[in-house]
Amino acid sequence: MTEASSAVTMDKIVSLCKRRGFVFPGSEIYGGLANAWDYGPMGVELKRNVKEAWWREVVRTRDDVVGLDAAILMNPSVWEASGHLSGFTDPLVECKECKHRFRSDHVESGKCPDCGGELGESRQFNLMLKTFLGAVEDTASTVFMRPETAQGMFVNFLNIQTATRKKLPFGIAQIGKSFRNEITPGNFIFRTREFEQMEMEFFAKPPEHLQPGERNDDEWHEYWVNLRFEWYLRHGIRKENLRLRVHETAELAHYAKATTDIEYLFPWGWGEMEGIANRTDFDLKKHSEHSGTRLTYFDEQSPAEEKHYHPYVIEPAVGVDRLALMFLLDAYTEEEVGGDSAGAGKGETRVVLKFHPSIAPVQVALLPLSRNEKLTPLSREVYASLIATGRWNVEYDDAQSIGRRYRRFDEVGTPFCVTVDFDSLEDNQVTIRDRDTLVQDRVAIADLASILGERLG
Ligand SMILES: [Zn+2]
Repeated sequence: MTEASSAVTMDKIVSLCKRRGFVFPGSEIYGGLANAWDYGPMGVELKRNVKEAWWREVVRTRDDVVGLDAAILMNPSVWEASGHLSGFTDPLVECKECKHRFRSDHVESGKCPDCGGELGESRQFNLMLKTFLGAVEDTASTVFMRPETAQGMFVNFLNIQTATRKKLPFGIAQIGKSFRNEITPGNFIFRTREFEQMEMEFFAKPPEHLQPGERNDDEWHEYWVNLRFEWYLRHGIRKENLRLRVHETAELAHYAKATTDIEYLFPWGWGEMEGIANRTDFDLKKHSEHSGTRLTYFDEQSPAEEKHYHPYVIEPAVGVDRLALMFLLDAYTEEEVGGDSAGAGKGETRVVLKFHPSIAPVQVALLPLSRNEKLTPLSREVYASLIATGRWNVEYDDAQSIGRRYRRFDEVGTPFCVTVDFDSLEDNQVTIRDRDTLVQDRVAIADLASILGERLG
């Protein structure tokens, strides 16, 4: 087995995603809707695993972070306080000839990239999507689809602190949909107008309130940058495809003191996966001013005179769709395989997604050698016993030839295929096929779950 080519392209990924049920074009039978995508059976499982891997690490396994699920539609005053109403804009230009629109800062020549025509005046375009609440469509009923989940956590700061009695430092995490009316969405699911975010606001003491030995905001920022970077490596992303990029002062968002991006090497170049920002006390202060509710923390041990203060915020923020794309690209492998029972003819190229087991949509495939009335009862029994462990997503498949089924599960990145054959009826053993090494070994059915448990981790 040799690696034929690691040259993954977006075309190959988009085609595999449709063929195997990861991602379909949205509303496809009506000609689609610009840059909207639907996640199919495999895509749903992939995204769910990505979200669970994040939630496990950021919330479940820590005693200093709690979860929230805030409403998408918020009081419009939220967006006034946060600065999104006035400042969440991109510069827009329109071509006078073909009427196509571009971000001014993406057009270098001053001419239309599509037709070479003359471009009009640049104007600021607000990226928030609008809708109306109630029966009347007027200014008073206008609400916005949230452009980030973060504000839901800021406005609930007091509620959560009161309900949980958490002491600083502590965090609030949230996974949910956000919406941005991007002028130029693109690159498949990398930049879409409707997307899912995973954000965590980690509230820490401002410098003047620290006691000896406590981490300051810069140190918490560094802590989260490192922890988040390691998360990618621990879930199988190749280190050479990742890098950290520290924002220059000039490119920092208006609320941020420092931001570090985790970037991934996409087929079109380095792209932002995740931003870890030090937002200082900007957000809680703004919401205190605009709402009239003091979003402060009472710290009787503070060495400063004022014991009520606005905590600083460190925020790791990442897009689920973007992560799904990264996992697909990084896992994509083409290999030359020799002819054997492992599922490809001599000299054939096999496409395999080498997902980390925790990310793979299906961890185990249960495959009777063929659809046969003698094999079915035992196969169903083994399948039921694996399902009963509750540990993995197991799929049962007895359609088509075994070679085609192996190819299918390689292409969706299933780490192990378990085959029940006619010998199984006599010796109570089954064959485990390893996705990456193609090694097949025979194990007792009684030991199957524990062996899979060891290999899947
Ligand atoms: Zn044009």
